[in-house]
Amino acid sequence: VNEHFADIIAAEAGPADRIWIHDYQLMLLPAMLRTRLPGRSIGFFLHIPFPSFELFRLLPGKWRREILSGLLGADLVGFHTYEYTQHFLQCALRILDHSHHLGTITLPSHIVKAQTFPLGIDFAKYHDGASSEETAGEAAKIRQSLGQRKIILSVDRLDYTKGILNRLEAFELLLDKHPAYAGNVVLVLTVVPSRVAVEQYGMMKRHIEETVGKINGRFGEIGWTPVVYRYRNLPFGKLTALYSISDVALVTPLRDGMNLVAKEYVAARADGEGVLVLSEMAGAVKELGEAIVVNPNDRRALAEAMHEALSMPPLEQRRRIAVMQGRLKRYTVDRWANDFLTQLDEMSITQARYLAKVLGPNLSELLVQEYRGTKKRLFLLDYDGTLVGFHERPRMAVPTPEVLLVLKSLCDDPRNVVAIVSGRDRDTLWDFFEGLGLTLVAEHGVWLRDPGKEWRMTKKISSAWKPDLLPILQLYTDRLPGALIEEKGAALAWHYRKADPEQAQVLVGELMDHLTSFTANTDLQIMQGNKVMEIRSAGVNKGTAVAGLLQRGTYDFILSIGDDWTDEDVFRMLPPGAHSVKVGVMSTHARYNVRDPEGVLDLLRTLANPGD
Ligand code: UDP
Repeated sequence: VNEHFADIIAAEAGPADRIWIHDYQLMLLPAMLRTRLPGRSIGFFLHIPFPSFELFRLLPGKWRREILSGLLGADLVGFHTYEYTQHFLQCALRILDHSHHLGTITLPSHIVKAQTFPLGIDFAKYHDGASSEETAGEAAKIRQSLGQRKIILSVDRLDYTKGILNRLEAFELLLDKHPAYAGNVVLVLTVVPSRVAVEQYGMMKRHIEETVGKINGRFGEIGWTPVVYRYRNLPFGKLTALYSISDVALVTPLRDGMNLVAKEYVAARADGEGVLVLSEMAGAVKELGEAIVVNPNDRRALAEAMHEALSMPPLEQRRRIAVMQGRLKRYTVDRWANDFLTQLDEMSITQARYLAKVLGPNLSELLVQEYRGTKKRLFLLDYDGTLVGFHERPRMAVPTPEVLLVLKSLCDDPRNVVAIVSGRDRDTLWDFFEGLGLTLVAEHGVWLRDPGKEWRMTKKISSAWKPDLLPILQLYTDRLPGALIEEKGAALAWHYRKADPEQAQVLVGELMDHLTSFTANTDLQIMQGNKVMEIRSAGVNKGTAVAGLLQRGTYDFILSIGDDWTDEDVFRMLPPGAHSVKVGVMSTHARYNVRDPEGVLDLLRTLANPGD
């Protein structure tokens, strides 16, 4: 179904069109459209709750990843409440390992923002509608047939999420517990046909009707039917009339993304009176806290809430209604739509700013043209996250034959000096790259090895501090399953890629505090990399090592590529005219971005065979 939508939208959408996708049945569509229409502005709004991670994780692995990736194809994903937004962000983190910064997730291809936009109603339509002549006529008819009895209103689609049965059972309990209501209260139960072809809905309908029959049979008297039941759709005039004369609106879904009936009832109370009993499981409760808030699963509490609502003094009713109306009047459905679309447009601007720097075929071609005419070139290449992707264990991220091949052909050109500038230790780099003719810089600039030479330190630094700090790291490794320590010559690295991301976040903060107090009077520095924390002597970084390389000669072409913030030290060090490329679409000192290590490989391949 989603593919079908994608085909048709791709065929219909004009180049300047914004696409706004609604609701759960189309969760896969944003990613499908991004593939078909790259660069188009895509918004998504979810009208139901987004479940917590504990629930969402119950889906088979493939499905939950597909659903999340589908949504992440949008530029902007909107939810009714802050809670749903957080659930989504938490699932994206725990299932796809996408962390966010203030609701913004940066993917290799684009940026996605998750934000809360509580759906509003057309306030004036219900408020003014309640005072219209048509509504007054309808209201008078209802009054005539129900007499002066108090009216409790219940209006929902036939759906298992709406808690209609619980409500009926609670009403029965109310009549049981408070016999004084006999003859004086009517529950007007309107059920709107929905999904009529689904067998379970038919069963639910029968069950509701049996329960209505049971209550009316048990309590009804001549001249008084406790539950006035209707199974039909009400036109606007009749619905507003009911809203406007019902003393109590019973809106108690078991789960509901927002619930508009609750908002419409409040808006339609032009006389300022009426009591809303609202389920704490409805999104609307976040904005309508002045309602009597109940747990819809607790029948006794529901019955008591009805009793409280029926006995609420008019002054208190007016106070509550006024506050809620004020809020609904401000955040209307127009405002909701405008907010969403404004935010979507802002995302397009942000996206364009980032993507302008992405090295596509055009920018690559310019680079190659410049490269062709040059005689002395310097390549400064980070390793992890740049030449190869990340693995759960750093040991497993070995260079692929393609990477080795392209490095070899770059090194074979006598005009090129190719340096790997990495945080890895000496032995690992040597194992990976021995014999290729590369210049190797290990441990973020501490060690350097020129082709045909031995390792040497760029600056004398001590590692006498290591035995003191190792036990602290071991302690935190024990506390965080999946974390591991990497011992380097002059540094210690604590990796947590495999660990639970949220637990890791907490422990990284604690460890940082712990280490900071320990290293306060030393020349040690603590660096945060991509899912790794590293402790080493201050004063040496990739930038200082690269400065040494730059001083060795005059290069007429310099290209530096890296993904991490440790590579930003290199970018900052480069002379004007040098080319710097950041891997991943994110803000950087670099001149360009490429999306991923694949993109780096493509670029290097093009340079290795520039066609001159
Ligand atoms: N509604 C209607 N006719 C009816 C009953 C309800 O048009 O007989 C409308 C109601 O005004 C509201 C919508 O249906 O705008 C129900 O929205 P809500 O968010 O409460 O529930 P949903 O059906 O989306 O789960």
